Amino acid sequence: MSRFTLAIHGGAGTILKEDMTPELELAYLEGLQQAMNAGYAVLEQGGSALNAIKATIVMLEDNMLFNAGRGSVFTKKGVQEMDAAVMDGSSLEAGAVTGVRNVRNPIELAMEVMQNSNHVFLSGKGASDFAIKQGIKLEPDEYFFSQFRYDQWKAIRDSDTYSLDHTHQRLEELMRDKKFGTVGAVACDQQGNIAAATSTGGMTNKKYGRIGDSPIIGAGTYANNTTCGISCTGHGEMFIRAVAAHDVSCLMEYKGLSLQKAMEVVVHDKLMAIGGEGGMIGVDSEGNAALVFNSQGMYRGYKSSDGNEVVAIYK
Ligand code: ASP
Repeated sequence: MSRFTLAIHGGAGTILKEDMTPELELAYLEGLQQAMNAGYAVLEQGGSALNAIKATIVMLEDNMLFNAGRGSVFTKKGVQEMDAAVMDGSSLEAGAVTGVRNVRNPIELAMEVMQNSNHVFLSGKGASDFAIKQGIKLEPDEYFFSQFRYDQWKAIRDSDTYSLDHTHQRLEELMRDKKFGTVGAVACDQQGNIAAATSTGGMTNKKYGRIGDSPIIGAGTYANNTTCGISCTGHGEMFIRAVAAHDVSCLMEYKGLSLQKAMEVVVHDKLMAIGGEGGMIGVDSEGNAALVFNSQGMYRGYKSSDGNEVVAIYK
């Protein structure tokens, strides 16, 4: 039996203590802790890394505080369209969905795509049809609504913050202000198998069917037993351009870097060089965990069978 470890994130961004009430801070910490405990319990009982991260992500998706599942952000059209991905590092199988609506737990749908669709990546209406066919739990729009996210959207819905060529600065300001609330989990189980998953509502006021890094295998989510499992959070466009999650794996495989070092290179050097704000969580097959970010904060935590355990928010 090798050391087993689970790491999680609930988004990164300008998360400052002075903007937080003690109650809200406690609610975030409790949300993270409960989701982490749920996944860790699976590992402790000898369950797979895949089942562990699923248990964790479902809890975070059900928690209104995070931008995934219930509580997802609103698009330009005022609806919630969610993305999710999962990857099994032992088989290199993967499943992902983008632009899905009314699916209670997008991670379950991504898992279903991986295990029962013969495909890797499904989008929009087709993904919804597949969800219905597979009996995935759906919810009405009201279930996903949160006043907080709605107010965030209302404040910017008349702006054109996605015209990056003309309004780059504006977008940067917006992102600094609004934070990223995506959720992710990575795990290494008792057998040394690795899995990674990410789930998100994307970015507030997104339009034209915009897809971020989260559901893109290699950009926001990646797992490979020979190297690592990675889940990212941050300004998705830059994480796609950096192929961030897979790059960590490559640095480990081709250059022999440790998990921590490889993540630091990607987050602090490569992403920073193109203005990519955010962070990532990772595990390797020896059960090492790393939580690296270049933003002011990242909701994060990890728990390992060697007794180490952390839940934190700020830098
Ligand atoms: N990376 C996500 C996206 O760009 C946002 C986030 O991490 O919160 O869709």
